[in-house]
Amino acid sequence: MPLTRAAAVLSAAALLTACGGVAEGEDAAQAGDRLDVSVGFYPYAFVSERVGGPDVEVVNLTKPGGEPHDLELTPQQVAALSETDLVVYSKGFQPAVDEAVEQQAADKALDVLTTVELREGEAHDEEEDEGEDEEHGDEGGQDPHVWLDPVRLGTIAVAVAEELADLAPDRADAFRERAAALQAELGELDDELRTGLSSCARQEIVTSHDAFGYLAGAYGLEQVSLAGLSPDDEASSGRLAEVATYARERGVTTIFFEETASPRVAESLAREVGAEAVVLSPLEGAPETGDYLSAMRTNLESLQSALDCT
Ligand SMILES: [Zn+2]
Repeated sequence: MPLTRAAAVLSAAALLTACGGVAEGEDAAQAGDRLDVSVGFYPYAFVSERVGGPDVEVVNLTKPGGEPHDLELTPQQVAALSETDLVVYSKGFQPAVDEAVEQQAADKALDVLTTVELREGEAHDEEEDEGEDEEHGDEGGQDPHVWLDPVRLGTIAVAVAEELADLAPDRADAFRERAAALQAELGELDDELRTGLSSCARQEIVTSHDAFGYLAGAYGLEQVSLAGLSPDDEASSGRLAEVATYARERGVTTIFFEETASPRVAESLAREVGAEAVVLSPLEGAPETGDYLSAMRTNLESLQSALDCT
């Protein structure tokens, strides 16, 4: 982008004139000099903002309150990707973003799913759930909800820092330091989750969509979901009956649903088995208050009360 670069040089020159000198480091991150990072949805906005700090301008392609799986992009959003410096996305999670990246940003996109170890998604009802992975792409049923494991999200933060360091080597140290700090905070969160979920009366979590596999895997929980990897999947009546039996047998007291979807199915199942319907956030959208870390702590409290943890 020669024009942008020329503008950056000009504004740096203007600053020199105006202030009689530019300090190295932080001051270099004036508006014109910021890296533009576009992200598919919230957790990667959180990570990119934390790692990029004042050196980046982050655009979340999923608007607040939007449901990221079935995101549609405007032609303007697609075109804007050709101007961005970096796209952070999950290939196979948001088909519209995949397509836009392919058209506009193939050479400057970080697919976070290449940075961490993936788990296979559960295919619980082959016949009735046919096509359940359409929304989440053709990754062979691999579960893309990696950010719900804080340790994996820390690994992603480090990968984002390396991408940013390549783009702006003069600020590489700052990116790496911020990523290390975030990784440490995520490590603390991981400790809290591990300790907080270590002695519970039950391990079973019944959820509406199959988003919590990484969380369950990390902390010894067993996730049973009503629908598939996408929240738009309709739970079949056969699946509902199956989960109801499971919930009764295991003494499940809580049916979890997510804040961005209708609680209707979860509520009716909860009534049927004498349980309560409670929100467990998959963090696919930005939390109304706080951030990823505080929302995960709220999730921990909900899990502890559902599972009778001491
Ligand atoms: Zn999901």
